[in-house]
Amino acid sequence: MNLAVMYHYVREPEDWKGSVPISPKEFESQIDRLGKTHDFVLPDELNNKTAKPKCILTFDDATRDQYEYAFDIMRRKGVPGYFTVMSGPLAEQEVPVFHLVHAALSLVEENHLWDELRPHLTAEDLLKLRKADATYAYEKSSIRKWIKYTLNFILDAKQSKNILEHLVYSLIGSKQKFIDDMYIGVEEFRIMKQAGMTLGVHSVYHAPFDGDVQAYFTNEIAPCVQFMQEQLNIKPSWYTPPFGGGEKKELMKENLKDLLLPCGFKGAFTTERGMIEDTGSFWYKRIDCNELTELTL
Ligand SMILES: [Zn+2]
Repeated sequence: MNLAVMYHYVREPEDWKGSVPISPKEFESQIDRLGKTHDFVLPDELNNKTAKPKCILTFDDATRDQYEYAFDIMRRKGVPGYFTVMSGPLAEQEVPVFHLVHAALSLVEENHLWDELRPHLTAEDLLKLRKADATYAYEKSSIRKWIKYTLNFILDAKQSKNILEHLVYSLIGSKQKFIDDMYIGVEEFRIMKQAGMTLGVHSVYHAPFDGDVQAYFTNEIAPCVQFMQEQLNIKPSWYTPPFGGGEKKELMKENLKDLLLPCGFKGAFTTERGMIEDTGSFWYKRIDCNELTELTL
């Protein structure tokens, strides 16, 4: 059956401890294995006739490793794919908090990071950490659980961002250097476009869908569309919602389509797990690359 595979970081897990990347070697191996059973296509080619079932490789968050490793491997093998643009860091120097969390966990030793965070917590806050165990059961160390729980559930977004920005940017040198190192830049996007990759919209600030369709479109989608038109001369027709739409994804699927269609969007890729059952639908399910082995390969 047709499928879309979801990728985030493609880099050595050893070098990036904040989340779970797929190594370039494993990525290449997945492409080779997928190529035996599927034909790789761009989103626009979903309804083309192909000998084998179709596979779309999709990439979220536009981190630089995707250009350096994934795109490089794909270009070498002649494999097409769908990459997305997040315009906030490039156009406004705004970095989403979850990327700062990943960076902090990769750059700073766990105990040291916890020492930085702990003074910001009240006695009452510290009691809340008991819940961290259940929320982050997949994390091995208690300290990592506390760190993630503190940043995501105890401190408010602004507090977390302030602490992390100060820490991460001072370690890297500057905010601009962090952005240059972390994200695919306009020049690289132009090269990817030239090489035949499809570029779509991911977001501006990577905010989750909040239920206000018009405001969400105005703040998180339209400026990214404009950025792509001005900087890359692309009129995007594919969309990937941040966090797959988050908690309000059903509301998003119901209402956002009506704003996307008149702007020329043809479809969107969610984080819902599944194969592509109907190539005529608007919202497509995907399979995370870390779950491929058991399922299809
Ligand atoms: Zn994302």
